[in-house]
Amino acid sequence: MANDSGAKKRLIISKAMTLGDVALQLGVPAGDVILYLLRRGEVFNKNKVLPENTIKELARHYGFDFEIKVDVRAAESTVTAEHADDHVKRAPVVVVIGHVDHGKTSLLDYIRKTRVAQRERGGITQHLGAYKVATAHGNLVFLDTPGHEAFLFMRARGVKIADIAVLVVAADDGIMPQTVEAIRHAREAKVPLVVVINKIDKVEKKRIDEVKAQLSRYDVTVEDWGGDVICLPVSAKTGEGVDTLIETLPVYAELLDLKARVSGPGVGYILEAKMEKGRGVVAAVILQHGVLNVGDYVATGSTVGRINAMVSSMGKQLNVVGPTEPVSLAGFDDLPRAGEVIRVITADEYKTARATGRVRVSEVGAGESRENAINIILRVDTDSSKEALVLAIEKVAKQQKSDINITQAGVGAITESDIEFAASTGSAIYGFCVKPGSQVLLLAKKLHVPVQTFYVIYHLLDDLSARIEKTRKPEVVEKKIGEAIVRKVFNIKGQVIAGCYVKSGRIVRGCKATIWRDGQKIGEGILQTLQREKRVVKEVAAGFECGFVIDGFNNFNEEDRVECTIESVS
Ligand code: GDP
Repeated sequence: MANDSGAKKRLIISKAMTLGDVALQLGVPAGDVILYLLRRGEVFNKNKVLPENTIKELARHYGFDFEIKVDVRAAESTVTAEHADDHVKRAPVVVVIGHVDHGKTSLLDYIRKTRVAQRERGGITQHLGAYKVATAHGNLVFLDTPGHEAFLFMRARGVKIADIAVLVVAADDGIMPQTVEAIRHAREAKVPLVVVINKIDKVEKKRIDEVKAQLSRYDVTVEDWGGDVICLPVSAKTGEGVDTLIETLPVYAELLDLKARVSGPGVGYILEAKMEKGRGVVAAVILQHGVLNVGDYVATGSTVGRINAMVSSMGKQLNVVGPTEPVSLAGFDDLPRAGEVIRVITADEYKTARATGRVRVSEVGAGESRENAINIILRVDTDSSKEALVLAIEKVAKQQKSDINITQAGVGAITESDIEFAASTGSAIYGFCVKPGSQVLLLAKKLHVPVQTFYVIYHLLDDLSARIEKTRKPEVVEKKIGEAIVRKVFNIKGQVIAGCYVKSGRIVRGCKATIWRDGQKIGEGILQTLQREKRVVKEVAAGFECGFVIDGFNNFNEEDRVECTIESVS
């Protein structure tokens, strides 16, 4: 990479330089440098001081000359001060996915066994639906539910709990149906993939390459194949490669720039919930933002509670907990559901919820998103405009036959916590006579949360109607296209063929057929192998004879009426 004058640009190696410093001088994103080094098997995060040789190698790679000002070797082992806003960097949440029997559970067990400190006495650690692993490059949180369950509840509630999906592919089996499904789930949820090829103790080396080639056919192109998906060979049985995986994940997470608000009311997810003898309802929870204290009032989509005890995964009683720390909570009125958002609420909101005997999200301020609904959060200036707006919105929903779900309605300014909550629940935010600050708008942009503010009710309702229109799926209706009468029934090589006369309209191969006898519906199926005078045809018009087979029905009688319909979009 030469500059305009033809001479190479010069990199000055002047002090103990971190990866971030070097990237800055090279004029490339730190993420690029991290990935480049990762591919070479070297694991560094942005704040790590790089060895001199690595800096030289990077200079060469990016087309730079270098000049050494001071001997950097003495400083190599030191780590520079953390970045100014590092206090809000958070640990990535990792979900392990893949085909059944490919070793997801074994991998999670191996990591837990070797990397999670056991409680000194008593032995057993708490099962919290997730566990935390400390690495040289930062913490990781593994969701304990491997595979589909985790994704299913994420999808059902439109939430994004996991930041990285580790796709496990057994080397001996290769890609299997659930592997493909897992890739699709991760893509749909926009969760980046890291691939591990497991059970390498069982196969020859060349088999690993074959699996990599297979992966590229599913649009998962690993580094060796010119792509950028990290792919690591491991054995959950012998432990080979697992350490590399553990060290790679937090470094990879750096590229995702995961941040958490570490003060203010907590917002997080229910991982699991159950009734426990002596403790009542307990739920395993992981916060994404803010803090949760013993004594706080909380709401999930289906229940409320006042936290009376918090226990860490090590069985330790806690008074306060922050983001990405799996914790067990007691004090819920009822059993919350896995995947629900949990949020700290005020004492007043809690009282209202209890007095009305039900959790109405617009009253308690924390709800769950509903699939296929338009989820919105309302922030208004006064209580009376809140009431008026909620009523008006309910009316619009009814008129337009649309499912509008107010995940939250509250009086006051739009806050960063609203944006995070909206991002978690897939909601849009509507402000009425309140204006968001620039920080809030910035966060909204980053998290892709739509925020609209209005000062006239009708303008807000118009915007909402436009949103409904945009999301409306075309309605599918069944349209009758023709009718035939059965004249004769043939049984040829075990296949029942209805010989018919087309009475009206037309009969089309692939259409839905409903069979009627004496005014009663007796069956239905898809019309196949349509023939006319021994020739296979696509359709037969009224006035002609034909023969067909119906997939799903073979009990024809003469004089049965076969009605053909197709689905059409209104
Ligand atoms: P899951 O269904 O994906 O959770 O798969 P499991 O973790 O239950 O593993 C399925 C089977 O494969 C078990 O019998 C494991 O002992 C075995 N297994 C898992 N990982 C490895 C591995 O790395 N090498 C070998 N040889 N066997 C493994």
